[in-house]
Amino acid sequence: MRFHQSESAFFVFIAVILAAGVTTYFAYQNLHDIAGRVVEAEAVEAVEHLRKLLFGTGVLLATALFFGAFFIYPLIRTQVREEDKLRAMTASLSARSETLEQAALTDSLTGMQNRRYFDDALREYLEEFRRIDRPVGLMLLDLDHFKTVNDTHGHDVGDTVLRAVANCLKDMTRYHDVVARLGGEEFAVVAPNMDTDLLLKLAERIRKAIAATAVVSGNVRLKITTSVGLAIWDGKESADQFFRRADARLYQAKSLGRNRVCA
Ligand code: GH3
Ligand code: MG
Ligand code: MG
Repeated sequence: MRFHQSESAFFVFIAVILAAGVTTYFAYQNLHDIAGRVVEAEAVEAVEHLRKLLFGTGVLLATALFFGAFFIYPLIRTQVREEDKLRAMTASLSARSETLEQAALTDSLTGMQNRRYFDDALREYLEEFRRIDRPVGLMLLDLDHFKTVNDTHGHDVGDTVLRAVANCLKDMTRYHDVVARLGGEEFAVVAPNMDTDLLLKLAERIRKAIAATAVVSGNVRLKITTSVGLAIWDGKESADQFFRRADARLYQAKSLGRNRVCA
């Protein structure tokens, strides 16, 4: 059993009172012996007076001990227990709020970061990279004819496809890339330290990997393709302007026939 600081202090206090009690007891006994040996009446009286005083001190110390053990200590114990309970509650609350915060930034279907996280992360990356003057790439992906997948095979199969695409994206990106589901069948990757050439190569690899991914539903092997729009940050534009530029390239990829990358 571990004791709280206030309990330990109380035990020291009790030990001091006990020591004072023992000393008083011995002084009382000594005086008793001396009283038996003195002959002058006046001295006997003085010793008797001292003995009475010591007896009084003993009674006071015993009262303090009793009061401490049966009143003060239970109060301290209750306070310590309440404090422990409060501490446990605070810990569980802060753990809960961390989980809530996590949930607010995570897409529940795929476990990826969500739009809110993406918006903040993109802004922060741009601020950081403005300072160190390094390139930042942005990739926007939109699955092709996804509505048909839902309409033909059902919403659950659609969800399975979304999860498969999410896993593919997670597998093919680096630790410090931001990979998010923006909503529906739209995904985004913020790839810091990538110039056009590198970003194009990565986007092509991702596009091919998604096209090669098969989702099995009953006896149907389902394949999906994706259109991709790319942009490299020009070092000046805002996150919104940067996003709109990549989105325009995505729109172009769609209108050129889908399943392709436009930069
Ligand atoms: P396009 O090639 O032009 O992008 O065509 P599309 O069918 O992919 O695009 P459209 O915007 O017409 O349809 C997107 C579909 O995505 C419509 C909606 O039912 C579906 N969708 C959005 N969110 C979810 C989801 O969480 N789960 C599933 N299964 N489907 C979703
Ligand atoms: Mg879409
Ligand atoms: Mg689509």
